[in-house]
Amino acid sequence: MGKKVERKVRGSILNTYLAFVTKKWGRDGYRLCMSEIGLWGEFRDGNYYQDAIRENILRWIAREKGEENLRECGKYIASNLGILSWLVRFSDPKAIASKFPKNFSEIYSYGRMEADTSKDKLIVLRLYDVCRIRECCEVWLGVCEGVLESTKTKGKVEEIKCSIEGADCCEYRISY
Ligand SMILES: [Zn+2]
Repeated sequence: MGKKVERKVRGSILNTYLAFVTKKWGRDGYRLCMSEIGLWGEFRDGNYYQDAIRENILRWIAREKGEENLRECGKYIASNLGILSWLVRFSDPKAIASKFPKNFSEIYSYGRMEADTSKDKLIVLRLYDVCRIRECCEVWLGVCEGVLESTKTKGKVEEIKCSIEGADCCEYRISY
């Protein structure tokens, strides 16, 4: 067995989740979420933090506000991709999805992402060693929906394999 990779994420993703919480449920929602996860203070976009914080924010959203909000959070992430957002208006879904793996590895210290855009009208995203809780998979489904929405493309999104259920990866299909 190789060395165990520490599961960390950049502050930028935590800040994007929390921006979603604030947009949706205001400053009070933000404060409740932060006190619930037992943290205070600011996350710096470029610093690394324990991934457990990310999971706890998602658990809070699902438990306190309802699971349907997780997909919405994912869509919010997809439309706030920072450096990628300028691309969206000019792009088709494949152009955006093909940037994901690099974007992913800049944010997550662990796991791996693959984007297969070789098939017509189909994008396959695979996440290896990423999701450990169902809430995480739901957010990724939302990110996939966000790719369609932000490019005004009609289509559907499904997770056809899940690592939580013992598969080798979580596999998402965006067909349009
Ligand atoms: Zn999954």
